[in-house]
Amino acid sequence: MAVQLFAPTFEIEECLAEIRDCLEKGWTGLGYKTVEFEEAWKKYTGLNHAHFLNSATAGLNLALEVLHEELWRDEKIRGGGEVITTPLTFVSTNHAILRAGLKPVFADVDDTLCLSPDSVRSRITDRTRAVLFVGIGGNTGHYKEIVKICREHNLKLILDAAHMAGTRYIDGDMPGKEADVVTYSFQAVKNLPTADSGMICFKEAAYDAIVRKKTWLGINKDTYLRTNSQGTYKWRYDVECVGEKYHGNSIMASIALVQLRYLDRDNAYRRQLAGWYRKGFEKYQDRIKLAEISSDCESSCHLFQIIVENRDEMMLALNQQEIYPGVHYVDNTEYRMYAYADGTCPNARYISEHVISLPMHLRLTYEDVQKIIHTVIDFITQ
Ligand SMILES: *Cc1c(COP(=O)(O)O)cnc(C)c1O
Repeated sequence: MAVQLFAPTFEIEECLAEIRDCLEKGWTGLGYKTVEFEEAWKKYTGLNHAHFLNSATAGLNLALEVLHEELWRDEKIRGGGEVITTPLTFVSTNHAILRAGLKPVFADVDDTLCLSPDSVRSRITDRTRAVLFVGIGGNTGHYKEIVKICREHNLKLILDAAHMAGTRYIDGDMPGKEADVVTYSFQAVKNLPTADSGMICFKEAAYDAIVRKKTWLGINKDTYLRTNSQGTYKWRYDVECVGEKYHGNSIMASIALVQLRYLDRDNAYRRQLAGWYRKGFEKYQDRIKLAEISSDCESSCHLFQIIVENRDEMMLALNQQEIYPGVHYVDNTEYRMYAYADGTCPNARYISEHVISLPMHLRLTYEDVQKIIHTVIDFITQ
Protein backbone atom coordinates (compact mmCIF):
# COMPACT_ATOMS: atom_id res chain seq x y z
CA MET A 1 0.00 0.00 0.00
CA ALA A 2 1.15 3.52 -0.79
CA VAL A 3 2.77 5.47 2.05
CA GLN A 4 1.80 9.14 2.08
CA LEU A 5 3.66 12.02 3.73
CA PHE A 6 0.73 12.84 6.00
CA ALA A 7 -2.50 11.03 6.90
CA PRO A 8 -4.69 12.74 9.50
CA THR A 9 -6.11 10.39 12.13
CA PHE A 10 -9.11 11.29 14.25
CA GLU A 11 -10.78 9.88 17.35
CA ILE A 12 -13.90 9.50 15.25
CA GLU A 13 -16.54 8.49 17.79
CA GLU A 14 -15.53 11.19 20.27
CA CYS A 15 -15.41 13.82 17.54
CA LEU A 16 -18.88 12.82 16.36
CA ALA A 17 -20.22 13.03 19.91
CA GLU A 18 -18.93 16.61 20.30
CA ILE A 19 -20.29 17.57 16.88
CA ARG A 20 -23.61 15.96 17.79
CA ASP A 21 -23.78 18.32 20.82
CA CYS A 22 -23.54 21.27 18.43
CA LEU A 23 -26.15 19.92 16.03
CA GLU A 24 -28.60 19.09 18.82
CA LYS A 25 -28.14 22.47 20.45
CA GLY A 26 -28.45 24.15 17.07
CA TRP A 27 -25.17 26.02 17.56
CA THR A 28 -22.40 25.43 15.03
CA GLY A 29 -20.89 28.93 14.87
CA LEU A 30 -18.78 31.29 16.96
CA GLY A 31 -19.12 30.79 20.74
CA TYR A 32 -20.01 27.64 22.70
CA LYS A 33 -17.36 25.04 21.66
CA THR A 34 -14.99 27.76 20.38
CA VAL A 35 -14.92 29.26 23.90
CA GLU A 36 -14.45 25.82 25.44
CA PHE A 37 -11.53 25.12 23.14
CA GLU A 38 -9.92 28.52 23.81
CA GLU A 39 -10.02 27.75 27.55
CA ALA A 40 -8.64 24.24 27.00
CA TRP A 41 -5.81 25.61 24.83
CA LYS A 42 -4.82 28.24 27.41
CA LYS A 43 -4.71 25.56 30.06
CA TYR A 44 -2.65 23.23 27.85
CA THR A 45 -0.09 25.83 26.72
CA GLY A 46 -0.02 28.09 29.78
CA LEU A 47 -0.50 31.13 27.51
CA ASN A 48 -2.52 34.11 28.79
CA HIS A 49 -4.90 34.52 25.86
CA ALA A 50 -6.14 32.41 23.00
CA HIS A 51 -8.57 33.24 20.21
CA PHE A 52 -9.83 30.48 17.92
CA LEU A 53 -9.66 31.22 14.17
CA ASN A 54 -10.57 29.65 10.86
CA SER A 55 -6.86 29.23 9.99
CA ALA A 56 -3.33 30.03 11.07
CA THR A 57 -3.00 32.16 7.94
CA ALA A 58 -5.74 34.38 9.39
CA GLY A 59 -3.76 34.42 12.64
CA LEU A 60 -0.53 35.54 10.97
CA ASN A 61 -2.37 38.24 9.02
CA LEU A 62 -3.95 39.52 12.24
CA ALA A 63 -0.75 39.31 14.28
CA LEU A 64 1.07 41.63 11.88
CA GLU A 65 -1.94 43.86 11.30
CA VAL A 66 -2.62 44.44 15.00
CA LEU A 67 1.03 45.07 15.85
CA HIS A 68 1.36 47.40 12.88
CA GLU A 69 -1.75 49.40 13.72
CA GLU A 70 -1.00 49.64 17.42
CA LEU A 71 2.75 50.21 17.34
CA TRP A 72 4.01 51.25 13.96
CA ARG A 73 1.10 53.08 12.35
CA ASP A 74 3.05 56.32 12.01
CA GLU A 75 5.81 54.48 10.19
CA LYS A 76 3.49 53.55 7.36
CA ILE A 77 3.62 57.16 6.29
CA ARG A 78 7.40 57.16 6.38
CA GLY A 79 7.66 54.08 4.20
CA GLY A 80 7.17 51.22 6.59
CA GLY A 81 9.16 49.06 8.91
CA GLU A 82 10.94 45.76 8.39
CA VAL A 83 10.26 42.34 9.85
CA ILE A 84 13.08 39.79 9.89
CA THR A 85 11.79 36.43 8.78
CA THR A 86 12.81 33.05 7.38
CA PRO A 87 12.79 32.00 3.72
CA LEU A 88 12.17 28.39 4.78
CA THR A 89 8.45 28.46 5.53
CA PHE A 90 4.97 28.20 4.09
CA VAL A 91 4.15 31.40 2.19
CA SER A 92 1.43 32.46 4.69
CA THR A 93 4.19 33.56 7.03
CA ASN A 94 5.72 36.08 4.68
CA HIS A 95 2.54 37.20 2.94
CA ALA A 96 1.27 38.32 6.35
CA ILE A 97 4.18 40.77 6.67
CA LEU A 98 3.54 42.26 3.24
CA ARG A 99 -0.21 42.49 3.82
CA ALA A 100 0.40 44.65 6.88
CA GLY A 101 2.42 47.10 4.79
CA LEU A 102 5.74 45.92 6.21
CA LYS A 103 8.78 44.55 4.42
CA PRO A 104 9.94 40.94 4.87
CA VAL A 105 13.72 40.95 5.35
CA PHE A 106 15.03 37.42 4.99
CA ALA A 107 17.64 36.07 7.41
CA ASP A 108 19.30 32.71 6.86
CA VAL A 109 18.64 29.45 8.69
CA ASP A 110 21.16 27.23 10.50
CA ASP A 111 21.45 23.46 10.98
CA THR A 112 18.19 23.44 12.95
CA LEU A 113 16.48 24.72 9.77
CA CYS A 114 15.18 27.61 11.91
CA LEU A 115 16.46 31.21 11.89
CA SER A 116 20.15 31.61 12.66
CA PRO A 117 20.66 34.14 15.50
CA ASP A 118 23.84 35.44 13.85
CA SER A 119 22.08 36.02 10.56
CA VAL A 120 19.18 37.75 12.35
CA ARG A 121 21.65 40.09 14.10
CA SER A 122 23.25 40.96 10.78
CA ARG A 123 19.88 41.99 9.31
CA ILE A 124 18.89 44.44 12.07
CA THR A 125 18.62 48.07 10.94
CA ASP A 126 16.94 51.13 12.43
CA ARG A 127 13.82 50.14 10.46
CA THR A 128 13.57 46.64 12.01
CA ARG A 129 10.44 46.32 14.12
CA ALA A 130 9.97 42.60 14.70
CA VAL A 131 11.32 39.10 14.19
CA LEU A 132 9.08 36.31 12.94
CA PHE A 133 10.32 32.88 14.05
CA VAL A 134 9.05 29.59 12.59
CA GLY A 135 9.67 26.41 14.62
CA ILE A 136 10.20 24.12 11.62
CA GLY A 137 8.94 20.60 12.14
CA GLY A 138 8.22 21.39 15.81
CA ASN A 139 11.86 22.21 16.54
CA THR A 140 12.62 25.19 18.80
CA GLY A 141 15.98 25.76 17.07
CA HIS A 142 17.77 28.73 18.62
CA TYR A 143 14.51 30.37 19.64
CA LYS A 144 15.78 31.29 23.13
CA GLU A 145 18.61 33.28 21.59
CA ILE A 146 16.19 35.00 19.23
CA VAL A 147 14.13 35.99 22.30
CA LYS A 148 17.26 37.60 23.77
CA ILE A 149 18.04 39.47 20.55
CA CYS A 150 14.50 40.85 20.46
CA ARG A 151 14.81 42.06 24.07
CA GLU A 152 18.22 43.67 23.43
CA HIS A 153 16.98 45.53 20.36
CA ASN A 154 13.45 46.25 21.55
CA LEU A 155 11.88 44.23 18.74
CA LYS A 156 8.53 42.47 18.84
CA LEU A 157 8.60 38.70 18.48
CA ILE A 158 6.04 36.72 16.50
CA LEU A 159 6.14 32.93 16.75
CA ASP A 160 4.64 30.97 13.85
CA ALA A 161 4.01 27.75 15.80
CA ALA A 162 2.06 26.02 13.00
CA HIS A 163 4.26 22.92 13.49
CA MET A 164 4.66 23.27 17.25
CA ALA A 165 1.40 22.07 18.82
CA GLY A 166 2.68 20.10 21.82
CA THR A 167 6.37 21.06 21.52
CA ARG A 168 7.92 21.43 24.98
CA TYR A 169 11.26 22.19 26.50
CA ILE A 170 12.54 19.18 28.37
CA ASP A 171 11.89 21.05 31.63
CA GLY A 172 8.18 20.87 30.69
CA ASP A 173 7.67 24.51 29.71
CA MET A 174 6.11 25.32 26.35
CA PRO A 175 7.71 27.91 24.08
CA GLY A 176 5.47 30.94 23.50
CA LYS A 177 5.16 32.98 26.70
CA GLU A 178 8.14 35.13 25.69
CA ALA A 179 6.64 36.05 22.31
CA ASP A 180 4.31 39.00 21.78
CA VAL A 181 2.06 36.77 19.74
CA VAL A 182 1.97 33.07 18.85
CA THR A 183 -0.08 31.50 16.06
CA TYR A 184 -0.94 27.78 15.77
CA SER A 185 -2.41 25.82 12.88
CA PHE A 186 -4.98 23.06 13.29
CA GLN A 187 -5.21 22.46 9.54
CA ALA A 188 -5.90 18.86 8.50
CA VAL A 189 -2.28 17.66 8.29
CA LYS A 190 -0.91 19.42 11.38
CA ASN A 191 -0.34 17.64 14.70
CA LEU A 192 -3.70 18.69 16.11
CA PRO A 193 -5.85 18.11 13.05
CA THR A 194 -9.32 19.56 12.42
CA ALA A 195 -10.22 20.45 8.82
CA ASP A 196 -9.15 24.09 8.89
CA SER A 197 -8.65 26.20 11.99
CA GLY A 198 -6.00 27.97 14.02
CA MET A 199 -5.30 29.96 17.17
CA ILE A 200 -3.83 33.39 17.90
CA CYS A 201 -2.37 33.98 21.34
CA PHE A 202 -1.40 37.55 22.20
CA LYS A 203 0.59 38.22 25.36
CA GLU A 204 -1.25 41.51 26.01
CA ALA A 205 -4.93 41.50 27.01
CA ALA A 206 -5.50 44.72 25.03
CA TYR A 207 -4.39 43.09 21.77
CA ASP A 208 -6.45 40.01 22.49
CA ALA A 209 -9.50 42.27 22.83
CA ILE A 210 -8.73 44.03 19.53
CA VAL A 211 -8.23 40.79 17.65
CA ARG A 212 -11.57 39.42 18.88
CA LYS A 213 -13.31 42.36 17.20
CA LYS A 214 -11.25 42.10 14.04
CA THR A 215 -12.11 38.44 13.46
CA TRP A 216 -15.77 39.32 13.15
CA LEU A 217 -15.89 42.39 10.93
CA GLY A 218 -15.08 44.82 13.73
CA ILE A 219 -18.28 44.01 15.60
CA ASN A 220 -17.84 44.64 19.30
CA LYS A 221 -20.13 41.96 20.69
CA ASP A 222 -20.45 38.43 19.42
CA THR A 223 -23.75 36.73 18.64
CA TYR A 224 -23.43 34.30 21.49
CA LEU A 225 -23.17 37.08 24.05
CA ARG A 226 -26.15 38.79 22.48
CA THR A 227 -28.23 35.61 22.53
CA ASN A 228 -27.41 35.10 26.17
CA SER A 229 -27.94 38.65 27.39
CA GLN A 230 -31.32 40.09 28.36
CA GLY A 231 -33.49 42.99 27.28
CA THR A 232 -34.93 44.64 24.22
CA TYR A 233 -31.57 45.81 22.92
CA LYS A 234 -29.79 42.50 22.97
CA TRP A 235 -29.76 42.50 19.15
CA ARG A 236 -27.75 45.73 19.09
CA TYR A 237 -24.07 45.98 18.39
CA ASP A 238 -21.58 48.60 17.36
CA VAL A 239 -18.91 48.36 14.66
CA GLU A 240 -15.64 49.85 15.83
CA CYS A 241 -13.19 49.09 13.06
CA VAL A 242 -12.69 47.28 9.78
CA GLY A 243 -12.41 43.55 10.31
CA GLU A 244 -12.42 40.22 8.53
CA LYS A 245 -14.50 37.08 8.82
CA TYR A 246 -11.69 35.12 10.46
CA HIS A 247 -13.16 33.52 13.59
CA GLY A 248 -13.42 29.76 14.09
CA ASN A 249 -16.64 27.76 14.47
CA SER A 250 -18.01 25.17 16.88
CA ILE A 251 -17.75 22.22 14.48
CA MET A 252 -14.00 22.73 14.08
CA ALA A 253 -13.69 23.41 17.82
CA SER A 254 -15.51 20.12 18.53
CA ILE A 255 -12.87 18.18 16.62
CA ALA A 256 -10.08 20.25 18.18
CA LEU A 257 -11.34 19.62 21.73
CA VAL A 258 -11.17 15.87 21.16
CA GLN A 259 -7.83 15.86 19.34
CA LEU A 260 -6.27 18.00 22.08
CA ARG A 261 -7.01 15.19 24.59
CA TYR A 262 -4.79 12.93 22.45
CA LEU A 263 -2.13 15.41 21.33
CA ASP A 264 0.54 14.30 23.82
CA ARG A 265 -0.10 10.63 23.07
CA ASP A 266 0.02 11.29 19.31
CA ASN A 267 3.22 13.34 19.58
CA ALA A 268 4.84 10.59 21.66
CA TYR A 269 4.19 8.19 18.77
CA ARG A 270 5.64 10.72 16.32
CA ARG A 271 8.78 10.84 18.47
CA GLN A 272 8.86 7.05 18.35
CA LEU A 273 8.73 7.16 14.53
CA ALA A 274 11.51 9.79 14.51
CA GLY A 275 13.56 7.56 16.82
CA TRP A 276 13.21 4.63 14.39
CA TYR A 277 14.26 6.81 11.47
CA ARG A 278 17.23 8.20 13.40
CA LYS A 279 18.43 4.74 14.36
CA GLY A 280 18.03 3.50 10.79
CA PHE A 281 20.18 6.32 9.41
CA GLU A 282 22.76 6.29 12.21
CA LYS A 283 25.51 4.61 10.17
CA TYR A 284 25.07 6.91 7.17
CA GLN A 285 25.64 10.29 8.81
CA ASP A 286 28.14 11.25 6.09
CA ARG A 287 25.45 11.00 3.41
CA ILE A 288 22.17 11.55 5.26
CA LYS A 289 22.16 14.73 7.33
CA LEU A 290 19.31 15.23 9.79
CA ALA A 291 17.80 18.53 10.85
CA GLU A 292 19.51 19.25 14.16
CA ILE A 293 17.05 19.20 17.09
CA SER A 294 17.99 21.52 19.97
CA SER A 295 19.13 19.50 22.95
CA ASP A 296 16.55 21.11 25.28
CA CYS A 297 13.61 20.50 22.90
CA GLU A 298 10.98 17.77 23.10
CA SER A 299 9.74 18.30 19.56
CA SER A 300 6.20 17.71 18.38
CA CYS A 301 7.93 15.93 15.46
CA HIS A 302 5.59 17.38 12.88
CA LEU A 303 8.22 16.59 10.25
CA PHE A 304 11.14 14.22 9.85
CA GLN A 305 13.54 15.94 7.46
CA ILE A 306 16.70 14.55 5.92
CA ILE A 307 19.23 16.40 3.75
CA VAL A 308 20.76 14.37 0.93
CA GLU A 309 22.88 14.90 -2.19
CA ASN A 310 20.55 13.80 -5.01
CA ARG A 311 17.25 14.84 -3.56
CA ASP A 312 15.14 14.79 -6.72
CA GLU A 313 16.42 11.37 -7.81
CA MET A 314 15.88 9.98 -4.33
CA MET A 315 12.34 11.31 -4.47
CA LEU A 316 11.73 9.32 -7.66
CA ALA A 317 13.27 6.19 -6.13
CA LEU A 318 10.90 6.53 -3.14
CA ASN A 319 7.92 7.17 -5.43
CA GLN A 320 8.74 3.95 -7.29
CA GLN A 321 8.22 2.11 -4.01
CA GLU A 322 4.91 3.99 -3.56
CA ILE A 323 6.41 6.20 -0.86
CA TYR A 324 5.42 9.84 -1.26
CA PRO A 325 7.57 12.27 0.75
CA GLY A 326 7.36 16.08 0.68
CA VAL A 327 9.61 19.14 0.67
CA HIS A 328 9.50 21.76 3.46
CA TYR A 329 10.15 24.23 2.03
CA VAL A 330 11.20 25.85 -1.19
CA ASP A 331 13.31 28.90 -0.28
CA ASN A 332 10.69 31.66 -0.49
CA THR A 333 13.17 34.01 -2.19
CA GLU A 334 12.92 31.72 -5.23
CA TYR A 335 9.32 32.85 -5.64
CA ARG A 336 8.89 35.73 -8.03
CA MET A 337 7.33 38.04 -5.50
CA TYR A 338 10.16 37.61 -2.98
CA ALA A 339 12.88 37.54 -5.63
CA TYR A 340 14.20 40.92 -4.40
CA ALA A 341 15.98 38.83 -1.75
CA ASP A 342 17.10 36.06 -4.13
CA GLY A 343 20.46 34.63 -3.09
CA THR A 344 20.63 36.39 0.31
CA CYS A 345 20.21 33.14 2.30
CA PRO A 346 22.63 30.49 0.97
CA ASN A 347 21.95 27.90 3.70
CA ALA A 348 18.22 28.10 3.11
CA ARG A 349 18.80 27.75 -0.63
CA TYR A 350 20.99 24.66 -0.11
CA ILE A 351 18.40 23.07 2.18
CA SER A 352 15.60 23.97 -0.19
CA GLU A 353 17.37 21.97 -2.89
CA HIS A 354 18.40 18.99 -0.74
CA VAL A 355 15.75 18.43 1.91
CA ILE A 356 13.11 15.69 1.99
CA SER A 357 10.35 15.28 4.55
CA LEU A 358 9.82 11.56 5.07
CA PRO A 359 6.33 10.25 5.85
CA MET A 360 5.34 11.20 9.42
CA HIS A 361 1.89 10.28 10.68
CA LEU A 362 0.10 8.06 13.15
CA ARG A 363 -0.86 5.32 10.69
CA LEU A 364 2.76 4.42 10.00
CA THR A 365 3.95 1.13 11.47
CA TYR A 366 7.45 0.02 12.44
CA GLU A 367 7.48 -2.01 9.19
CA ASP A 368 6.53 1.05 7.10
CA VAL A 369 9.40 3.03 8.63
CA GLN A 370 11.85 0.17 7.98
CA LYS A 371 10.72 -0.01 4.35
CA ILE A 372 11.28 3.76 3.96
CA ILE A 373 14.70 3.56 5.66
CA HIS A 374 15.77 0.68 3.40
CA THR A 375 14.61 2.45 0.25
CA VAL A 376 16.60 5.56 1.23
CA ILE A 377 19.72 3.53 2.10
CA ASP A 378 19.47 1.39 -1.04
CA PHE A 379 19.37 4.58 -3.08
CA ILE A 380 22.39 6.23 -1.47
CA THR A 381 24.50 3.03 -1.53
CA GLN A 382 23.57 1.86 -5.03
C1 LIG B 1 0.39 25.27 7.75
C2 LIG B 1 1.22 26.45 8.00
C3 LIG B 1 0.69 27.75 8.05
C4 LIG B 1 -0.72 28.05 7.68
O1 LIG B 1 -1.65 27.35 8.43
P1 LIG B 1 -3.18 27.29 7.94
O2 LIG B 1 -3.91 26.88 9.20
O3 LIG B 1 -3.26 26.26 6.87
O4 LIG B 1 -3.57 28.63 7.48
C5 LIG B 1 1.53 28.79 8.38
N1 LIG B 1 2.83 28.60 8.63
C6 LIG B 1 3.39 27.37 8.57
C7 LIG B 1 4.84 27.21 8.89
C8 LIG B 1 2.60 26.26 8.24
O5 LIG B 1 3.17 25.05 8.15
